[in-house]
Amino acid sequence: CGIVGYVGSKQAEPFLIDGLTKLEYRGYDSAGIAVIDNDKIDLEKCVGRLDALKAKIKGHEPKGVIGIGHTRWATHGGPSDVNAHPHLDCKGDFAVVHNGIIENYMQLKEKLIEKGHKFLSETDTEVVAHLLEELYDGDFETAVREVLKRIEGSYSLLFMSRRDPDKLICTKKDNPLIIGLGDGENFIASDIPAIIGYTRRNYIINDGEIAVVKKDSIWITNQDGLPVTKKVFEVNWNA
Ligand code: GLU
Repeated sequence: CGIVGYVGSKQAEPFLIDGLTKLEYRGYDSAGIAVIDNDKIDLEKCVGRLDALKAKIKGHEPKGVIGIGHTRWATHGGPSDVNAHPHLDCKGDFAVVHNGIIENYMQLKEKLIEKGHKFLSETDTEVVAHLLEELYDGDFETAVREVLKRIEGSYSLLFMSRRDPDKLICTKKDNPLIIGLGDGENFIASDIPAIIGYTRRNYIINDGEIAVVKKDSIWITNQDGLPVTKKVFEVNWNA
C-alpha cells in the first residue's frame, strides 16, 4: 500500500519510518523496513500500526545508509508478521516491497518450490524475491529485468540487494511511484506526501520504466533498456 526507499549518506531508518507515517492516511494492516547493515540485510516487520514497529525496533534501530520500507494492505495472505513486507529470498541477498497484485504468483511459486525454494509467507509478493534470487547471475539490474518478463499483474516494486549495496532499483505498472531528488541522497515513494518534507523535486515514473537509484545518480530506462529523459516535477503544494 505504501512504499518508501532511501539511498544516501545519512541513516535510512528515520526517513523510512517518517515517510511511512506520512502515508498512513492510505490505510494499512502491517509495516516493515529493511536496511543494509555491513553486508547484511537487517529486516524488521510486524503486524499492526507503525507504533508497533517503532516499539519493536526501539533501542536497536537498523543501521545503514540504504533501505526500503512498506505499509501493507493485505490482498494475498492475511495480516501477520511473516506476511508483512519487505520479503527476502532464501539467502537473504535481496529484499523487495510491493504494492499491487502478482496475478500469476501461484504458477511461479510452484515452479520455485520444485527448484527448492522455501517460502515463509502466503503473499504473492514473496515469489518476486525468490525469482530474483533464481535469475540473478551477477548483475542486479539484469536480474530485475528478467523478473519483470515473468510476472503479470499490477505493481510498484522496489528492490534492494546486499550484493550491490549502493543502489535501489524500482519499477511500476498501474500503481504510482516517484523518485525524490536530493543532494547526495535520493528518495523513493509511492506517493508525494512521504517525501515532501525532504525534497520538492521529483521524477514521476511511468509504467514499464526501470530506475536505478544511487545517492548521486538516477538512471532510468524503458522496458527495452533505452534511456529515458525525465523532466523534474516540482511540487508547489503542502502535504
Ligand atoms: N499483494 C501484496 C500483499 O498482499 C501487496 C499488498 C499491498 O499493496 O499492500 O502482500
